[in-house]
Amino acid sequence: MFKPKVIYYEKDIVNYELGKELMEKYKEVPKIEIENHNNIEEMRKKSNKEFIDMKRNLIIGIRKTHKFVENHKTSDYLVPYTSSGCTAACMYCYLVCNYNKCSYLRLFVNREQMLDKIIKTSEKSEKELTFEIGSNSDLVLENSITKNLVWTIENFKDTKKGRLTFPTKFDMVDDILVLNHKGKVTVRMSVNPDYIINRVEFGTSRLDARINAINKLKEAGYNVGILIAPVIMVENWKELYLELIKILDSKLSKKAKKDAFFEIIFMTYSYVHTKINEEAFSNAINLYNKDIMRGGGRGKYRYKEEYKKDGEMFFRKQMNKYFPNNKIEYIV
Ligand code: SF4
Repeated sequence: MFKPKVIYYEKDIVNYELGKELMEKYKEVPKIEIENHNNIEEMRKKSNKEFIDMKRNLIIGIRKTHKFVENHKTSDYLVPYTSSGCTAACMYCYLVCNYNKCSYLRLFVNREQMLDKIIKTSEKSEKELTFEIGSNSDLVLENSITKNLVWTIENFKDTKKGRLTFPTKFDMVDDILVLNHKGKVTVRMSVNPDYIINRVEFGTSRLDARINAINKLKEAGYNVGILIAPVIMVENWKELYLELIKILDSKLSKKAKKDAFFEIIFMTYSYVHTKINEEAFSNAINLYNKDIMRGGGRGKYRYKEEYKKDGEMFFRKQMNKYFPNNKIEYIV
């Protein structure tokens, strides 16, 4: 259970139900009032070495930007929702690109306003829309602090139209199993070989626990997707990922295997990651490999086309063998 070291908060959070609840829940934790959750000067000044220590803080504010971004993968819109950042520290986390070393967990207490916008947009649309609510954080992790997933599903389930989706790397799903979600929610569990989880995805759930969570969610009637992501081309990556596919084949329940869909995403890395990681995790493996990666613009690194093509062929072949009836939404 996450116990914050210090809470940085905007004073107006107490005008919201969730703000009051969090202040009560953490009444023993030292607090510092801030003007704006987006700009905490003492955090920006900290060194990369302090990255993990910074992740022990919790920031509570009010979300001011509510712009939906069109998306054409597993949803129609990416929606800024109830949190951004995370207490975990995956070495490739793309939130580090967006927030740099300030990718600590921020909670936003104006959830009514955010969900209201989703509901109004979905009910106005002629088409059935899907909203990705977890692109800025991990909502299963967040739920363990705020219960916001429970709140969201309960308040969304009776809308006339629309669906919600979010990815996660955590297994604490028991709170949402009992809810009457009415089939409107898709949970997409991200998986990786234990070798990668142990060395790269610090602070997230183990593979076995994630697979158990998939089986429980399916049993509870949720739509379930599986993200094999990000695929990291370490030296023996084909062996590792073949083993992962075999583990999924043997440990997923019949129900989960029947209609889970897959998304497969190769890792994107960046100059910012290399700088933070070499100082914050000096003993960790180096995810940047100049021989197989190329610059992808704005300081980003991607696998070179020939390696990606080979990777795609590998996954298509193995998935065809072990999961011939499951749809692969995309491989990117
Ligand atoms: S769990 Fe997700 S949001 Fe959290 S650090 Fe890892 S990739 Fe980032």
